[in-house]
Amino acid sequence: MFPLLKYTEGQVLEYFSRVTAEMVRASLRKERCDWFDLLNLLSPAAYPFMDEMRERARKARIRYYGKTVSVYAPLYIGNTCVNHCKYCDFRREHTGTVRRNLTMDEIRTEGEAIRAGGIDSLLIVAGEDPVVNSVEHLAEVGRMLKKMFSNLSLEVAPQSEEGYRELFRSGYESLTCFQETYDPVLYKEMHPAGPKSNYTWRLWTQLRAGKAGFRTLGCAFLLGLGPWRPEAASLGAHAFYLMKECYESKVQFAFPRFCKVEGGFVPPCEVDERDVDLMMLAFRIVFPQSCMTVSTREAPRFRDYIVQVAADNMSAGSRVTPGGYAVLEKEHASDVAQFTLTDRRTPAEVYAAIKANGQEVVYKNWDNRI
Ligand code: SF4
Repeated sequence: MFPLLKYTEGQVLEYFSRVTAEMVRASLRKERCDWFDLLNLLSPAAYPFMDEMRERARKARIRYYGKTVSVYAPLYIGNTCVNHCKYCDFRREHTGTVRRNLTMDEIRTEGEAIRAGGIDSLLIVAGEDPVVNSVEHLAEVGRMLKKMFSNLSLEVAPQSEEGYRELFRSGYESLTCFQETYDPVLYKEMHPAGPKSNYTWRLWTQLRAGKAGFRTLGCAFLLGLGPWRPEAASLGAHAFYLMKECYESKVQFAFPRFCKVEGGFVPPCEVDERDVDLMMLAFRIVFPQSCMTVSTREAPRFRDYIVQVAADNMSAGSRVTPGGYAVLEKEHASDVAQFTLTDRRTPAEVYAAIKANGQEVVYKNWDNRI
């Protein structure tokens, strides 16, 4: 569990089992919800109320984000990694992965290809390799790409507060760091060695970035590693904590779910689409102002639906391998991705789907260069 919570996983599971329909109704009647309301809305007793929850979430979403969907794309700059995450094909010992770190010219080429598709908000992703992806290198990348994109986000190894200050100065403003699991024992099992094996260092990443000035602090756990309800309860507690400590920043939620692939990692816990739906509705109701992303791992049909009722932003035309937008195409090389994409639509197809649902595509919703 999130360590500042005074409840054990067993107590939280027992609470979930005792939630009644009346408790769910009471939470839905409240204007402002607290952590226990979140638990009520995540409980099995909430399933029969999903239509009501959908309506409440939809209204909250419209109040804060209107009928708009922000779009972004990830840019993988390198996939060498010193960690041993059991579920990831970029892990150090995995020999089946073609390793590559893009040069500055290649990163520019990738950026130009993404920009040509209309995207103005970019997420820089890299494996954890302190020699290659040092703060200095990431800052250099940020300075170059900030000339092309309004908003730069980071999904790389956790840094010190001082490191985040330098990255913020170079143009990055948003951060994503999945805790993967809030259960320290399971965390150790899934991350047996390497810098990522340090649960505590990873847990306070958003706090360090928030203190360094980052505007958006992305939090998530990996759906499928541990039982999802206690993990979601921890995610909620983590978010409440960050909203208090980093009140000038916005919390952003993501709900990345394992997709089963032939011969790939088999997630220990099942999370179905209805559970993801329930979770996203519950988080939108309890955290109406927070940002929420829908993962590219979900099916196009689900993504198009959930951006109307809960999520406010989505990726478009994602490639999850270094060079996947333009460089590999030039070399006629194949794509070796970090995970399997379920939504493989082009940016134009994603924009068309958003518009077909009566929503507006937002390419830029922030620009600190102005
Ligand atoms: S999840 Fe991240 S840190 Fe872990 S092996 Fe994959 S790229 Fe490396």
